[in-house]
Amino acid sequence: MLELRGYYSSEARRMLRFLQLRERRLPAHAQGAANGEGIKNQFFFITNLNSIEREKLFFMSEEINRKVVILGSGPAGLTAAIYAARAELAPLVIEGPQPGGQLTITTDVENYPGFAEGITGPELMNEFRAQAERFGTEFLSVWIDRVDLSQRPFTLYGKASKDSREITTIIKVETLIISTGASAKWLGVKGEEPAPAGLGGNGVSACATCDGFFFRGKPIVVAGGGDTAMEEANYLTRFASKVTVVHRRGELRASRIMQERAFKNEKIEFLWNTEIREILGDAARGVTGIQIYNNQNQKESVLPTEGVFVAIGHQPNTELFKGLLEMDEVGYLKTEGRTMKTNIPGVFACGDAQDDYYRQAITAAGTGCMAAIDAERFLSESE
Ligand SMILES: Cc1cc2nc3c(=O)[nH]c(=O)nc-3n(C[C@H](O)[C@H](O)[C@H](O)COP(=O)(O)OP(=O)(O)OC[C@H]3O[C@@H](n4cnc5c(N)ncnc54)[C@H](O)[C@@H]3O)c2cc1C
Repeated sequence: MLELRGYYSSEARRMLRFLQLRERRLPAHAQGAANGEGIKNQFFFITNLNSIEREKLFFMSEEINRKVVILGSGPAGLTAAIYAARAELAPLVIEGPQPGGQLTITTDVENYPGFAEGITGPELMNEFRAQAERFGTEFLSVWIDRVDLSQRPFTLYGKASKDSREITTIIKVETLIISTGASAKWLGVKGEEPAPAGLGGNGVSACATCDGFFFRGKPIVVAGGGDTAMEEANYLTRFASKVTVVHRRGELRASRIMQERAFKNEKIEFLWNTEIREILGDAARGVTGIQIYNNQNQKESVLPTEGVFVAIGHQPNTELFKGLLEMDEVGYLKTEGRTMKTNIPGVFACGDAQDDYYRQAITAAGTGCMAAIDAERFLSESE
């Protein structure tokens, strides 16, 4: 709980108390947003303190102690929560900047078992959350800025958001399950942003396995020149009428075998030395084309297409653990054998943060279940 230390008047104290009480009356999922920084900003606003007075104020961080903390609220984290909660470990899930994870930015999910008619990503993640909550999982909406894994209990330092300056929450935990996921790398061009701002999820995708099916009989574009791009292009020829690989260089970076497979595929065409400048279309029609630029002859033109798959790789969200946990050269966390154990006893990793290969909701959920079982066994063995 936030408290005032040092300089304060009884009026200021009363005001903070009022804000905190008001905060607790909000539904659980809305509380985090106004925790820490939020309360502090409202406090400054209402009490009308000048900058010198603000300097004199100190806020104490909230400290939380738990047996199990799950960092991340995507399919891996929430599945770990369901298992840990049912094992009566009272887990705390840290939702972070994207409550529900990557699936919340997609529309139809048709390959998650149990939903014969398909389900939208946000609806699916609401179901995950409700199931975890039903068994007593608690949620906290903070950005974890740094961690200390040098001794147990481990310490996590949380801020209201990635951009805020002050640590407002300190969490001490016996076992940590990391499920921070991964992010697709994007081109950074206009039209690529998630809908409604752009056409992301409305013709623009970064996952052929997830969205290829929606492009049956349509011409599509794959952006990239590495193994990921060749794999996605080959896979997409099962559905698309034609796949055009747009690559900014004159040769591929992909391995020889992947290149050969792509060159042999009659449905794949290549546009060399070509950069995508903009993805064209609108909310009603989805993607209609791409604005391209040939970096050899400096000419711009429009290529009609109905879908764009950006396949320039993924970045696991594991920056936080650099130098602390073993990871591969890209940053995927390493786990031991068939378990979800990292190199530090009591720290487990699951989902896309440790999986550079399958990257699906169902596999993330599967490894989340494994991580929770591993954590539960670790705790009972160390008691
Ligand atoms: C557009 C799109 C469509 C997709 N469609 C499908 C599909 O149809 N079927 C399918 O099976 N898969 C699909 N996927 C893949 C699927 O979404 C992922 O495999 C899955 O979400 C991975 O789950 P995860 O729990 O490992 O991580 P994520 O879902 O990535 O969740 C990561 C969590 O970690 C939190 N986090 C990260 N860093 C921090 C931090 N420092 N502090 C606090 N919290 C943090 C985030 O807030 C988030 O809650 C799709 C992916 C995308 C992008």
